[in-house]
Amino acid sequence: MAVKINENYLKLPGSYLFAEIGRRVAKYKKEHPEANIIRLGIGDVTRPLAPAVIESLHKAVDEMAKAETFRGYGPEQGYEFLIQTIIDNDFAPRGIQLEVDEIFISDGTKSDVGNIQEIFGIDNIVAITDPVYPVYLDSNVMAGRTGAYKDSKFENIVYLPCNAENNFVPEIPQEKVDMIYLCLPNNPTGTTLTKAELKKWVDYARDNKSIILFDAAYEAFIQEEDIPHSIYEIEGAKEVAIEFRSFSKTAGFTGTRCAYTVVPKTVMGYTASGEAYPLNKLWNRRQTTKFNGVPYIVQKAAEAVYSPEGKKQIKETIQYYMTNAKIIREGLQSIGLDVYGGVNAPYIWLKTPQNLSSWEFFDKLLTEAHIVGTPGEGFGPSGEGYFRLTAFGSREKTEQAIERIKSNLKL
Ligand SMILES: *Cc1c(COP(=O)(O)O)cnc(C)c1O
Repeated sequence: MAVKINENYLKLPGSYLFAEIGRRVAKYKKEHPEANIIRLGIGDVTRPLAPAVIESLHKAVDEMAKAETFRGYGPEQGYEFLIQTIIDNDFAPRGIQLEVDEIFISDGTKSDVGNIQEIFGIDNIVAITDPVYPVYLDSNVMAGRTGAYKDSKFENIVYLPCNAENNFVPEIPQEKVDMIYLCLPNNPTGTTLTKAELKKWVDYARDNKSIILFDAAYEAFIQEEDIPHSIYEIEGAKEVAIEFRSFSKTAGFTGTRCAYTVVPKTVMGYTASGEAYPLNKLWNRRQTTKFNGVPYIVQKAAEAVYSPEGKKQIKETIQYYMTNAKIIREGLQSIGLDVYGGVNAPYIWLKTPQNLSSWEFFDKLLTEAHIVGTPGEGFGPSGEGYFRLTAFGSREKTEQAIERIKSNLKL
């Protein structure tokens, strides 16, 4: 017999979204070489690392140059200096008590949200909000937790539509689901939930012995009151939720790589015979077996995010992006478009005008205004008829793009 492949991978439709965007832009450029195209579709930050972070990084590099301060392998779970700093700054001020062994430092939330499903049974029913960051779904497809892909959906997945009709608030499922992925503030819609709305999910998870996998990658962009920064602000969440945080968008670490995952010791999963088992132990085992930690120099860089200067500098950068978000939001609203998000997240989600499909609007924006964005359909079936713009560009390009949309888009 020949070596077999994991055929679950073959269930995944080709990652055609960004390839198709590239193809359409390249074709348009070739036909219109004079067009000055602005990209408002990027999901990556563009501002440099904060000076405090760079300084800490340099110091750590110098430590690596001397035998007395050189570091080899560190703890797989991360250095205590960083974990304690995270607890003191991200959680304690919000009244959340965590212990050092409840936080796991990693090289990214993408890896963690993709890997976390490994510690759960293969028969669990997975629920995802729709549209959403594709990693939650794809990692469960690869593991074999879904059926085939039919009519833009995977069998055995519970999709929780989020659209203008329900104000982007997912409805609590009628059926029992086991693993619930929530991304708040959301990528791509830029919308979020209030504490009261999130509480309903925590209550559901407690009633049904489910787990909530809470991706808070955009927590630092929250501007409004009453929006939870951590799911542990909700009573009872420490029994049912794992939280993912990343320095990527918060502090421009997309290329530097550092994130962390919170697994309270009180969060339980269950054996087939119904016995409770702490997920913290399973994740610790998973990480110590398959992961060898984040570079010392990167953890020192992350620590500097919490220094007084670091905090100030990072806040300025977030304000820079959120001002871009405001410019995009208000600019689009001024020409009568229906716009969502952009208040607590760097994403603006718009309803396509004239009932255009996501891709039809993509072509319209490209040909009439020379602007590139992301068709909502690429984030899930409920994204059809919507379109994502991001606030991660430069101020100049953002302003130019909105002026152009205002004067050239035929509505
Ligand atoms: C960008 C992003 C992340 C960050 O992933 P990293 O691997 O930490 O860079 C996580 N979740 C969502 C929803 C994102 O958009």
